[in-house]
Amino acid sequence: MRILVTGGAGFIGSNFVHYWFSQVSRLGEPFMLVLDALTYAGQEGNLDPVEADQNLYFVKGDVCDRALLDRILRQYEIDAVVHFAAESHADRSIAQPTPFIQTNLVGTFTLLEAFRTYWEEEGAPAHYRFIHVSTGEVFGSLSPETIPATEDSPYQPNSPHAASKAGSDHLVRSYHHTYGLPVIITSASSNYGPYQHPEKFVPLTILNSLLGKPLLIYGDGNQVRNWIYVEDHCEALVQILLKGIPGKRYNIGGTPEVKNLTLVEQLCDLIDEAAPHLPMRPCRKLITFVEDQPGHDRRHALNSSKIREELGWSPKFSLLEGLNRTITWYMTHRTWWEPLTNIPRESY
Ligand code: NAD
Repeated sequence: MRILVTGGAGFIGSNFVHYWFSQVSRLGEPFMLVLDALTYAGQEGNLDPVEADQNLYFVKGDVCDRALLDRILRQYEIDAVVHFAAESHADRSIAQPTPFIQTNLVGTFTLLEAFRTYWEEEGAPAHYRFIHVSTGEVFGSLSPETIPATEDSPYQPNSPHAASKAGSDHLVRSYHHTYGLPVIITSASSNYGPYQHPEKFVPLTILNSLLGKPLLIYGDGNQVRNWIYVEDHCEALVQILLKGIPGKRYNIGGTPEVKNLTLVEQLCDLIDEAAPHLPMRPCRKLITFVEDQPGHDRRHALNSSKIREELGWSPKFSLLEGLNRTITWYMTHRTWWEPLTNIPRESY
């Protein structure tokens, strides 16, 4: 398999590349090309843990650049695309939606068109794959009485970010129905783990706890999410790439549902244990409630029985284990996150 990974220098993409070369590559001939524009969210250095002698290549470039995509697909004889590249932070999409429309919608469309043209030129091989990595946010805010979203639940995206991902899902789906392109759409719940940008909820809470800064909770903190440790998500994507059925979609949900406030409290308690020297312990004292964000969904929840039953996948990491691993990673990778937070070294 010769895989193009878009957005592979970001959080989930880089974890996917690590996972592939550490757990999967022995299953077949490995070749992987990462294409990434290296926005604020991506760093080529995130791929460093992959051994230099592995078959991993990197190209800096934009998924909206059709000529580049045409060249890459042919030159590297790609037969599978795993499409992570996106603007991914919902809060940013409220202030500045334009890059979300450009990358998530126009970029996905450009990639689909390039891949379709190349696939047709190659004689429409049935084994080619286009895996579109999407999010459970497309299903919107579920009421407490509603069962978790299945693959067939209606789309109700509430933020420009969710709407741009929903639009890209529809485009991908249409390329299967119109052209027969072997696409698979995945919808994952909220991810956490190593290499996640410090602007995101879990790393932000960890770093602010370590730094003694306020832990801001939007609204009452009763928003519900089901979290997934990033390695579990990557394993699910590998199963889908190797065994998933074209034209299908798969939900990839993680742990049981948990309230945001409960998650922050749990992180505080784990950090108190992991870093007993912190002067501001207990970290729960840092919790500060602020006004809720517009478009902030009350409840996301995914039903993942389809991938469990059809592909035999299930998450391996409990929330407690995943959070402990994540805390340890951030405590031992200060040189990674320090430049992303612009915090002077002496302040912590
Ligand atoms: P991220 O923001 O950490 O990484 C995105 C990567 O895409 C970065 O490396 C960035 O440089 C690159 N990129 C952005 N615009 C690009 C462009 N125009 N061309 C090429 N590269 C570009 O995001 P993430 O959290 O790793 O999410 C990856 C994918 O998974 C996204 O599609 C996201 O919607 C989806 N997803 C994320 C979560 C989550 O909780 N983080 C949950 C479900 C689904």
